[in-house]
Amino acid sequence: MVSADAALLFRRSFGDDPDVVASSAGRANLIGEHVDYVGGPVLPIAIDTRTAVAVRLRTSGESRAVSLQDAGLVRTFDTSLRARTGAWTDYIAGITRALEVNGVEIAAIDVAVASDVPVGSGLSSSAALMVAAASAISHATEQPTQPLVCAGLALRAEREFVGVPCGMMDQWASALGREGHALHLECATGATQQVPFSDAVLIVHSGVERNLGDSPYSARVSDCAEALLGLRQVVPHIDFLAQASEAQVRSAPMSERARKRALHVVGETARVREAVAAMLAGKGFPGELLTATHASLRDLFECSTPDLDWLAETAAAMDGVRGARLTGAGWGGCVMVLGDAAALPGVATRLARDYGRRTGRVVRSWISKASGGLALDLTHVGNRH
Ligand code: ADP
Ligand code: MG
Repeated sequence: MVSADAALLFRRSFGDDPDVVASSAGRANLIGEHVDYVGGPVLPIAIDTRTAVAVRLRTSGESRAVSLQDAGLVRTFDTSLRARTGAWTDYIAGITRALEVNGVEIAAIDVAVASDVPVGSGLSSSAALMVAAASAISHATEQPTQPLVCAGLALRAEREFVGVPCGMMDQWASALGREGHALHLECATGATQQVPFSDAVLIVHSGVERNLGDSPYSARVSDCAEALLGLRQVVPHIDFLAQASEAQVRSAPMSERARKRALHVVGETARVREAVAAMLAGKGFPGELLTATHASLRDLFECSTPDLDWLAETAAAMDGVRGARLTGAGWGGCVMVLGDAAALPGVATRLARDYGRRTGRVVRSWISKASGGLALDLTHVGNRH
C-alpha cells in the first residue's frame, strides 16, 4: 500500500517512474528497553506499519527528495554532504554517504517516501526510512545490499551522520523482522535468533511526539557510560554495562544517578533472558514482565511521563490484559499492551475514551502482529538497458 503511494508520489513529483521501490517496517520492542546501546539483549517485533522509498538515479544535478510526511514538498540535497542540515533529507544523505564510504558512488538521486509509521513516536520511523532507503538506493546502483548490510548502513548513518547515539535494535528489527516471530538480538555480539511470537499487541499513542535529538536520550547514554567507567574500577575487563551483576553495580563507585540507570540495565537484561526462555519453552510471553519493565523505566531510568504511566497502569488493570509498558525511548510516544486478541479492540476503545477525557488529546492506536521486515517491492533495474 505505502509502496504504491511512494511510486505515485514519485511520478507526480518528478514526472517519471522510479527505478526501485523498497519498504521496511516500523518496530515495537517487546522487552529490552534502553539496553541496546549498552550491549544487552533486546526482543523487538517488526510491525505492519511500513515506510516505502522510491528511487531513481540521475547522472548529474541536484538530488531531490519528497515525503508525504513532509507535506509533499520537494527538497534538494547533496548526496555527498559532509555535515547535516537538520532537514529530514539528512536521513537519505546519511545513507548515500554511508554507501559512498563503501565505494558506491551516487552522483544524484530522486527519492519519494510514503509511510504509515507515525513519526517521532517510538515506533522507529527513522530506521524504517533508512533501511528502506539503503535497500532501494543500493538496488538502483545495481549493487544490491542484503538486509543485514542495510541495517548496518542505516545504523552507521543515523549515528554518524544524523547524530543520534542510538543502538542497533531499530535497524535490525526493521530489516530482519519475520512474520510470527520476535527477533532476539544480542547487541554485544550481533547474534540473532527468531523466537516464535504470534500474539497481537496493541500500541497506543500518547499524542506526544518527540525527536530523539532533542530528548534527554543523549544524557542517559552518558549516564550509562559513566556507570561503565565506575564498574571498571571493580571489574576491570567488563566490556558492556549489560554484563554487570546487581552486586557489582551496587558496590562500584559512581553517582547515584548513574547507579539507577545501571540497575535498570541489569534488571532489564535479566527480564529479556527470562522472556526468551519462556517463549522458547512454548509458554508464551510472560506479560507481567512488561509491567516490571515499565516500573523500572519510570523509577530507575526516568524516561516515562505521567501520561505514559497513566496509559500503562490503566491498561494493565483491564480485563484480558497480560501486561503493558511504554515502548521506545520514552518521553512521549507509545504504550504497548499485551493481551487476549479478543479483548484488545475493547481495551483500545476504553483507553482512547478515558485518556481523551483526561488530556483532551485524540488517541491513535494500532493492533499489530509480528510482521515481515525489509522487502523489495518493485524494480525496473536491469530492464532499462
Ligand atoms: P522515531 O524513529 O521513533 O519515529 P526519531 O526521532 O528517531 O523517531 O525519527 C524521526 C525523524 O525521522 C523525523 O523527525 C524525520 O526527520 C525522519 N523521518 C522518519 N520518517 C519519515 C518520513 N516518512 N518522511 C520524512 N521524514 C521522516
Ligand atoms: Mg528513531
